[in-house]
Amino acid sequence: MKTTHKLFAIFGNPVSHSISPLMHNYALKAFGIDGCYTRYELTDAKKLKEKFLQLKLSGINITVPHKEAAFLACDEVKGIAKKIGAVNTIINQEDKLIGYNTDAPGFYKCALSFGKISNVLILGAGGTAKAIATVFRENNIPVTLLNRSGKRLLFFKEQGYETYVWDDFDVGFYDLVVNTTSAGLNDDKLPAPKKILSVVFQKSRYAIDVIYNKKTPFLMMASKFNLPFKDGSLMLLYQGIYAFDLFFNMEYNEKEIHRHMKKAF
Ligand code: NDP
Repeated sequence: MKTTHKLFAIFGNPVSHSISPLMHNYALKAFGIDGCYTRYELTDAKKLKEKFLQLKLSGINITVPHKEAAFLACDEVKGIAKKIGAVNTIINQEDKLIGYNTDAPGFYKCALSFGKISNVLILGAGGTAKAIATVFRENNIPVTLLNRSGKRLLFFKEQGYETYVWDDFDVGFYDLVVNTTSAGLNDDKLPAPKKILSVVFQKSRYAIDVIYNKKTPFLMMASKFNLPFKDGSLMLLYQGIYAFDLFFNMEYNEKEIHRHMKKAF
């Protein structure tokens, strides 16, 4: 009997909606790799490391709400994840958990497909906003944050980002405006009042919503203002490609991984 040598998974809660298994399994199959990628609903974040080792996993991705807990569970964190404080990819190195963040470079690559970006407005101040703000800062691109409430903005304020709540927002000109809030995910809400967004869209060139497979109210409004826009599918695809690179130590051609994983969308 043939044995499966490498097992991968996505950890999250909920996790049933995730298309990561489909993306990775398309690539595993196409490359003829003896392995499988599954999903695991992790209810208690404290059990992440225990489950990872118990299931003898070679690597995992982590989705909401465990990315910050995953950061803490790692034996070592590498690259941009150290600055973000959140991990979405872990590889098993002799039973040591090594953590990375591929959401950040995944988003960056997606954003650059519009062309040159010189400054960015991020709506929201959660984990995804941290990843996106950090990757632009690493590339010397200024970032402004706008959130409905002040508490989560503190992290950004302390690091010297320009931050606003709706009431005190002084709208500038932006190459890119990004929705990282969950407004529009399971409802018809906009991520900020319509009055504010109207001015923002008049002063911006491109829009991205990190929510994927859906034309959210934010994107519908962007298209009314004739802004070229993207949903979060490309970000999801690229973070998956970079995770696959880490799982297999860059052994496979990125264009090929791209071609295989794209079938999941
Ligand atoms: P968090 O819970 O960390 O942050 C949520 C943010 O959204 C907060 O700033 C919150 O504001 C704001 N918010 C929530 N609801 C509203 C609302 N109705 N109006 C205005 N602001 C609101 O979430 P994450 O950063 O982890 O995830 C955000 C989104 O990103 C999710 O939809 C997720 O699915 C998506 N995502 C997509 C990825 C992809 O690959 N495409 C990858 C990762 C995430 P406040 O501080 O005031 O509460």
